[in-house]
Amino acid sequence: MNILLTGGTGYIGSHTAVVLAQAGHDVVLYDNLSNSDRRVVNHLAHITGRPMTFVEGDIRDAELLTRTLRAAGIEAVIHFAGLKAVGESVDKPVEYYANNVQGTISLLQAMQAVSIGTLVFSSSATVYGEPQYLPLDEKHPTSATNPYGRSKLHIEEMLLDVAKSDQRWRIACLRYFNPVGAHDSALIGESPRGIPNNLMPYIAQVAAGQRQALQVFGDDYPTPDGTGVRDYIHVMDLARGHLAALGFLAHHAGWHAVNLGTGHGSSVLEMVRAFEHVSGQSVPYKITPRRPGDVAACYAKADKAARELGWSAQLGLEDMCRSTWKFQRQSESGSSR
Ligand code: NAD
Ligand code: UDP
Repeated sequence: MNILLTGGTGYIGSHTAVVLAQAGHDVVLYDNLSNSDRRVVNHLAHITGRPMTFVEGDIRDAELLTRTLRAAGIEAVIHFAGLKAVGESVDKPVEYYANNVQGTISLLQAMQAVSIGTLVFSSSATVYGEPQYLPLDEKHPTSATNPYGRSKLHIEEMLLDVAKSDQRWRIACLRYFNPVGAHDSALIGESPRGIPNNLMPYIAQVAAGQRQALQVFGDDYPTPDGTGVRDYIHVMDLARGHLAALGFLAHHAGWHAVNLGTGHGSSVLEMVRAFEHVSGQSVPYKITPRRPGDVAACYAKADKAARELGWSAQLGLEDMCRSTWKFQRQSESGSSR
């Protein structure tokens, strides 16, 4: 199948490109490079042994998107492109709605213009808001606590309307939990610009001696060790979830929301210990006040993905830490992005 990946040179998009290419699909990457590097395209060709088409463009450019979809004979789209930093979204809501919501509208217009109805969308567990019960299943009420989360929720709701309007649409909203790790080659991975917002890249930089200590945001949560609990999922497992979603959509029209998580929660201190064990480095940390907006615990009920997509996560914490550490060291040596 010919598949377009918006945001295809980004963290999750690039790993998904590997999985799709290795499954025999032809992949076109479409990205404005606002948060990624064009060298990823060469790394992907190296990993998969086949060149990959890259189009530099913005998803808000419906004309370029339409031309790209038509020229490449695209049959399905996986929509990763968007801005994703929660804190930044509070300061720049207009940018977030323009990129994420307006960008998705423009993508839908382009898809409509060339009669492509199969779409997999990168949603997030953030659409569940403050958990009312755990584990989070797909029937949990949705809400948003910041513009980033609200943009995801708006898009999901918009996609539901679109799917209801015409039976030719086949749409999967994949609600990711906490993606971490990297491809085994260490050629691609997560390279945050500046100070990392997320736990895993921060831990990796502390282990590498680039930062002095991890700040653990609160140890007074109602969790077993008092630190925040999340459902960390290996990015390669997540990538395979997209392939499974495409397989599912081949036989199912309409709108579908599916969690992609492991079903298991790990605390911040468990992550620190796992990383120390795998890397052989110490990860000094200090306890600081809670980060505003954080919830105590968030983890998935992953049964729907297993039942409907035939997918479940295979890789554990050790694999996540090992691949992150390998990518961290390779990045320091300057041989990847
Ligand atoms: P990323 O920033 O690495 O990748 C996103 C890509 O989209 C980047 O390459 C960026 O250059 C591109 N992009 C942004 N705006 C664009 C635009 N207007 N036009 C064209 N390209 C544009 O992020 P990621 O971690 O790979 O996330 C991919 C998707 O998954 C995002 O939609 C994100 O919200 C969602 N998601 C990510 C996480 C996570 O923790 N990483 C969790 C839940 C959901
Ligand atoms: N966290 C932390 N220090 C950091 C970054 C994150 O203690 O420097 C904690 C955070 O409070 C949460 C967990 O690690 O409990 C995961 O945070 P992350 O930002 O990676 O993901 P999210 O909050 O989006 O689930």
